[in-house]
Amino acid sequence: MITTKSIPKIKKLLGKSKRNRKIIGFVPTMGALHKGHLSLIDKAKKESNFLVVSIFINPLQFGPSEDFKKYPRNIKKDKKLLKKHGVNLLFYPQADKIYTPDFSTFVQEKEISKKLCGKSRPGHFQGVTTIVTKLFNIVEPDLSYFGQKDYQQALIIKKIVKDLNFAAKIKIAPIVREKDKLALSSRNAYLNKKERKESRAIYQALFQAKKMVKDKEKNPKKIIKEMKKIIEKKPTAKIDYIEIRKAKNLEKIRKIKGKIFIGVAVYFGKTRLIDNIIIQSKT
Ligand code: AMP
Repeated sequence: MITTKSIPKIKKLLGKSKRNRKIIGFVPTMGALHKGHLSLIDKAKKESNFLVVSIFINPLQFGPSEDFKKYPRNIKKDKKLLKKHGVNLLFYPQADKIYTPDFSTFVQEKEISKKLCGKSRPGHFQGVTTIVTKLFNIVEPDLSYFGQKDYQQALIIKKIVKDLNFAAKIKIAPIVREKDKLALSSRNAYLNKKERKESRAIYQALFQAKKMVKDKEKNPKKIIKEMKKIIEKKPTAKIDYIEIRKAKNLEKIRKIKGKIFIGVAVYFGKTRLIDNIIIQSKT
């Protein structure tokens, strides 16, 4: 595995791969890798023949009161894992090379970004779309992989690819979960024992929703009410949002119909966790 921090070096290397007609697969991450990241990497490895992973904790996507400083960092362990999973190139840039002191250009998607997590985390998605645009311009991938765990983010990336004519094809991979069904996340490390135990309520609520849809409940409000009950029982939980939306574009729906997204954001103590399921309802 080649590891580089240098943008000119990566451009030179990848230009060569392109000339050799390699299919460049790309998985952007913020490091502290877990099995969720590795599932994207394994999928990308199968479908491409030159695999690039980036590790960059993007300051632009963290709000002023968020966890940028304490975000977990473990580059040694990450490098080992990436080697083991057959990654060809690790791009591990320095923040001051990505955002030079005179940096003044931002990429903003203005529709899907306004909703759900966009409301709770102003500026977050602009940070994401700006860094992904930069990384796509540096790596020029043919295929790039994102997790359903951050479904809104994946939809926004798909939208900027369409709107700005990027060549990359975006693939969305399923959510990898712990044994008790909590979605894997680097932020799970912040949870204390009690919070960790109570965080199971997220999946229990999603599971209840799935069951209600299967039993032909058509009213999203009724489903959300039941989900709330499950989560609110937990003393350390504070709901940010529970929403049921059209999966295609996260538009509001009055009735359960077609492919739907059920998304949850909940604080356990100070840690904000997100999760979702996507269901194709029968009618
Ligand atoms: P992050 O390092 O948190 O920016 O995540 C990098 C990529 O991994 C994103 O596309 C995430 O959606 C994806 N990802 C994070 N957690 C999971 C998970 N539990 N299952 C699948 N993909 C995930």
